Amino acid sequence: MIPYGRQTIDDDDIQAVIEVLKSDYLTTGPKIQEFEKAICEVTGAKYGVAISSGTAALHAAVFAAGLEPGDEVITTPITFAATSNVVLYQGATPVFADISPDSLLIDPKSVESFITTKTKAIIAVDYAGQPCDYGSLRKIARKYDLTLISDACHSIGAKYKGRKVGTLADMTCFSFHPVKHITTGEGGAIVTNSKELADKMRTFRNHGITTDHAQRMEKGSWFYEMLDLGFNYRITDIQCALGISQIKKLNGWIKKRNEIAKVYDAAFAENEKITPLKTDSGNFNSYHLYVVKLDESLDRAEIFSRLREQGIGVNVHYIPVYLHPYYQNNLDTAPGLCPKAEKCYEQMLSLPIFEGLTNVEQQMVIQSLEQLTS
Ligand SMILES: *Cc1c(COP(=O)(O)O)cnc(C)c1O
Repeated sequence: MIPYGRQTIDDDDIQAVIEVLKSDYLTTGPKIQEFEKAICEVTGAKYGVAISSGTAALHAAVFAAGLEPGDEVITTPITFAATSNVVLYQGATPVFADISPDSLLIDPKSVESFITTKTKAIIAVDYAGQPCDYGSLRKIARKYDLTLISDACHSIGAKYKGRKVGTLADMTCFSFHPVKHITTGEGGAIVTNSKELADKMRTFRNHGITTDHAQRMEKGSWFYEMLDLGFNYRITDIQCALGISQIKKLNGWIKKRNEIAKVYDAAFAENEKITPLKTDSGNFNSYHLYVVKLDESLDRAEIFSRLREQGIGVNVHYIPVYLHPYYQNNLDTAPGLCPKAEKCYEQMLSLPIFEGLTNVEQQMVIQSLEQLTS
């Protein structure tokens, strides 16, 4: 099976992990800060907080934003459930705005239409690897005094009008799950230019406790205080060593992903039944996913299962979050809430894209899809 995404682990990655296993610190050691520094260098942000997963990164961000029960957060339904689940973790309410059908990104006009006196934050998702319309989203956030959080789990290394993802929102969240651009097994990070927000998230990652083990050792003191109700969302040095080794290869891999995307774009350019997502000409897409929309006349379920039978690991990203039973049962959401998102959901298909995808494999994907849609 050609998967839709797959990690690349080289000997130097393995060596980096082995070195940590032989060292004094398996967790809360020097590799954490070293990885955070590397993430800041790649993204151009001032502060980085490495954490146990992308979900934990989003949770830390909504915590730092001060979300409380009664607050509302506007986000997109075309995302992984974690994006809005973290709003529920805080006892607050996710509100779903509709998307732009060409890019599947959240539509700022729809966002503005859902703002109430209870709205506290916006979580924008850089779906597939293209940054959202941060120009408009920032204006809205400023106008209504909202925290702008970027779920950039798909878009590390991408750029909006020349500006790097990581510098476009108040807080930007990344995931290092194996299917993402770089991996730490499980892992995530938040970057921000606010020291105050970074400090809050650092504490949140460690039970809400003011100092960590290493800091207390340094001070020779037993004293610590728990200020907030935090979690154990720490990431290990083992994971960060892998991340440090992986992040060195990020730019090369993004280049490869863009080359693969160009081949798909060219192959489908004249095909009226297969429409790739549009990337705004001013933006740089880091292509976590390569998504096409199939013509309405086609049976997506049929094409999906035929491709899978042929060993092509296509996927669908995503079922609109509010259609999941948990949301319908607990938030009273129902079909019809975001008509554009629901229509696009019926047509979308994610094709294999990852740095290790070979030319021959990609041609197989293209030929199979063209045959099944003609
Ligand atoms: C992967 C992903 C997450 C969650 O990240 P984990 O590291 O798996 O917890 C959140 N949002 C989006 C858009 C993702 O793709």
